[in-house]
Amino acid sequence: MTTIRRRLTFWYTVALGVTVVAFGTLLYLERRSSSLRELDQRLLLEADLADRWLTESYNVLGRIVTTGGSRPALDPGISAYLDAVRDYLVVADTGGQVLALSDVARELDAGDLQRLTGVLDSLRLKRQSGNVDLGLPIGNVRYLAVRVERAGPEVGGVLVATSLGQVAFGPSALLQSMLLIAPVVLLGAAVVGYWLAGTSLRPVEGIMDEVEAISDGRSLHRRLAVPISGDEMARLALTVNGMLARLEKSFDSLHRFTADASHELKTPLMVLRAGVERALVHPGVPAEILQSLDETLAQVNQMSEMVENLLTLARADEGRAPLAVEECDLRDVIGDVAETAGMLGESAGITVTSRIPSTAIPMAVDRHRIREMLLNLVTNAIKYTPQGGTVALSLAQEDGSVVFTVSDTGIGIAPGDLPHIFDRFWRADPARSRTGERPGTGLGLSITKWIAEAHGGSITVQSRPGRGSVFTVRLPREAPIQIHAAATEEVSGQLSS
Ligand code: ADP
Repeated sequence: MTTIRRRLTFWYTVALGVTVVAFGTLLYLERRSSSLRELDQRLLLEADLADRWLTESYNVLGRIVTTGGSRPALDPGISAYLDAVRDYLVVADTGGQVLALSDVARELDAGDLQRLTGVLDSLRLKRQSGNVDLGLPIGNVRYLAVRVERAGPEVGGVLVATSLGQVAFGPSALLQSMLLIAPVVLLGAAVVGYWLAGTSLRPVEGIMDEVEAISDGRSLHRRLAVPISGDEMARLALTVNGMLARLEKSFDSLHRFTADASHELKTPLMVLRAGVERALVHPGVPAEILQSLDETLAQVNQMSEMVENLLTLARADEGRAPLAVEECDLRDVIGDVAETAGMLGESAGITVTSRIPSTAIPMAVDRHRIREMLLNLVTNAIKYTPQGGTVALSLAQEDGSVVFTVSDTGIGIAPGDLPHIFDRFWRADPARSRTGERPGTGLGLSITKWIAEAHGGSITVQSRPGRGSVFTVRLPREAPIQIHAAATEEVSGQLSS
């Protein structure tokens, strides 16, 4: 979510940045060309005035060029008027010789002056404008040269020029201001964009939180709140709700089918088992038939166990697996399991030890389920530990929790398998764990996990292949069974009764 928000902000800022730059560039170019136009008009006005002044003076005086000095020059009375022009102004004769200069033009060095008069010298048209680079410090100058035709034979033309630096000043200042302002504007836009993106995406976050809360089959009855805005978010919520409804329906039918099928299978299996057991004790049954009856009974028992487990899980999924919560001393429960484990261990050649506290640990739990949970762990530990190994059970109290551990020195679990061991029907690779020789349904740990969680607790496992495994069940003393029970009608019924 954060990435979409950041991405939106980034692209929003980039788009705005591009717009600002494009706008600034266009503004700068427009200002520059209009400044140039204004400058050309000023130069034209000055050249025209000079042309008219020279023509009028010639018409009145008849002669405006004096040749008294070392070289010809405009009559001082006439050139005095041109002194005041605030740009470079050069009056030249038809051969390109300077006849008069404005005050500003007089400050130019000889080289620069020659470059300007060179323009007049090569003047072909009546009017000609352009740029000449006079080098530093003046730089580029804009000029307008005009041929003067009616101010006597000596006067050839007038050139007015001005530094382009002055022109550039206006648009450059604009550019500088924009460079200063643009980052501030962009930063402000980024902040606003980030906030805007966050605000627009908040409903999506809300939907995601709600969907995340629907973490398992039991929460599928929940629905998202549909915004009254009727916008895309409302459509999204409606779509997700529709999907949840379809999921809930198929989950329901799956659970119902599993529960019904398991339930229907229970009776025929019981009848089958009773029949096989009866046949086993029947006198005169040949040995080879007895052996196959034995195998059949083992298979029937395993199938009954699987059907029982499936029924429990299907009911748990539907929230119909009741917990018969009663106050009991957990030492009794684990002691009972340790006893059974001792017997199982003895026949498997495995040492079973138990560490039980001397003081009572009273707690409200479903003792049968807790016993089932521990038995699952212990039978697994014995099943997956080779002869001569050890299985240890312990019960302890820790920071407001009770902790059961069942550890073994068995075959262990591969790191890649650890995330799957609590999945339904999952069994490790037969080649590694020899699960073919070790009967099982792959449902024991799923039920164990459900029992721990139904008591508000959790189960974790640590294991190293070839070294053994440690299963740890942690149940909070102040068990929030109610929290779980709230999701299961029958449990809440028991708690309130
Ligand atoms: P199963 O009926 O196969 O024992 P479980 O759900 O009890 O089914 O266990 C799932 C799988 O986890 C087992 O098939 C086995 O591969 C692995 N497993 C469980 N407990 C142990 C253990 N103590 N040591 C090694 N592997 C184990």
